[in-house]
Amino acid sequence: MQCACGRTLELQEIEELDASACFIRFDCGVCDFRLGLEVEPKQASPLFDYIVLTDEAQHILDRMPPYLEPLVREEVEHYAHQKGVTVVTSAFLAEARNRGAVSWNPEAESRLARVPAPVRAMARMELERTALDRGMSEVTVSLMEEVKARYFGMRRDYG
Ligand SMILES: [Zn+2]
Repeated sequence: MQCACGRTLELQEIEELDASACFIRFDCGVCDFRLGLEVEPKQASPLFDYIVLTDEAQHILDRMPPYLEPLVREEVEHYAHQKGVTVVTSAFLAEARNRGAVSWNPEAESRLARVPAPVRAMARMELERTALDRGMSEVTVSLMEEVKARYFGMRRDYG
């Protein structure tokens, strides 16, 4: 994107506001022009012809061990290309690391098996979606406890 003064706007930050919105800020650097956009990360993809990470996704990579970070970055960029995504959020990062799937901690999996069949599929979907929204790559027992209480009103004796 170009500024009215003719210079290319520089990306300053992408902040995740919640699971479905991010705030993107561009500065000109020559004149005082600044541009702020609040958009869904998926809608922001056409704004960039290269892959950008939100501040939160960058923070996750920064905390990884130095040997792991370049591997994960490459894996994520590859997955982003496949999906036609340029704005990588923390949720997308988790999705990329699992090739679009959320894994289940063994204890969480065995608890899910005890959930009554009519609600099991819905519970599985809701838990995986919540995990991805939070940038988690795995469904854990503590996430289950929380989601159960919030969405399903299930009693603890299923688990
Ligand atoms: Zn300018």
